[in-house]
Amino acid sequence: MKIIAGNWKMNGTRAALENMLHALRDIVTNNRVILCVPFTMLGARSENVALGAQDVSTHDHGAFTGEVSAPMIADTGAKYVIVGHSERRMYHGETNDIVRQKAAAAIASGLTPIICVGETMDEKQAGKTMAIIESGVRESVPTDARNVIVAYEPRWAIGAGLTPTATEIAAAHTLIANTLADMGLDGTPVLYGASVKGANAAEIMSIAHVDGVLVGGASLKPDDFIPIITSVK
Ligand code: PEP
Repeated sequence: MKIIAGNWKMNGTRAALENMLHALRDIVTNNRVILCVPFTMLGARSENVALGAQDVSTHDHGAFTGEVSAPMIADTGAKYVIVGHSERRMYHGETNDIVRQKAAAAIASGLTPIICVGETMDEKQAGKTMAIIESGVRESVPTDARNVIVAYEPRWAIGAGLTPTATEIAAAHTLIANTLADMGLDGTPVLYGASVKGANAAEIMSIAHVDGVLVGGASLKPDDFIPIITSVK
């Protein structure tokens, strides 16, 4: 069983989501399928696809105009929320510290946070990939977390049609698994994300410690997303 999570980013409509859920309704798979969609689309219903949000406030309620809290997300029936996506880190200045607070808020409301970590191109070129990944995990994942998913997303590869080599993915995922075990969180699923598509999904998910994928662009259309879901048993 793998976890196949889509991240629609700021794309789509309620009708597009209904179309996707309809297309996924009869897919036979052992994999857990999740779609993280804009807040406006949460509340859609599906028997076989769980919904998630893409961000969450650190606060539960109050004078925080424009923010959406974990209890509100849970109230829609959603089960997951992405936290610390590279676009939140890049455009909204989210640090590991903020990401950990968001993850804790999600957990407190019964949501499973999908906590993203990964290196930029500058960090990769400076030979800091492993250090950034390890500090990302240690500082972004709440230490008492029992119900979390971590996603390794090399930031330079997202939406770029680029992927690390299988050896690089294996090294990153082994480090994440070992770091989580050291934190007392062994067994936490670790997803790979960045430029996953039908043509590379099975190979990526055959790598050690890759428990599934987080998919951006290729999760928007059934014709692109279904081959990823069915690429592994
Ligand atoms: C993402 O943004 O989480 C992502 C993985 O994007 P893409 O698949 O388009 O690279």
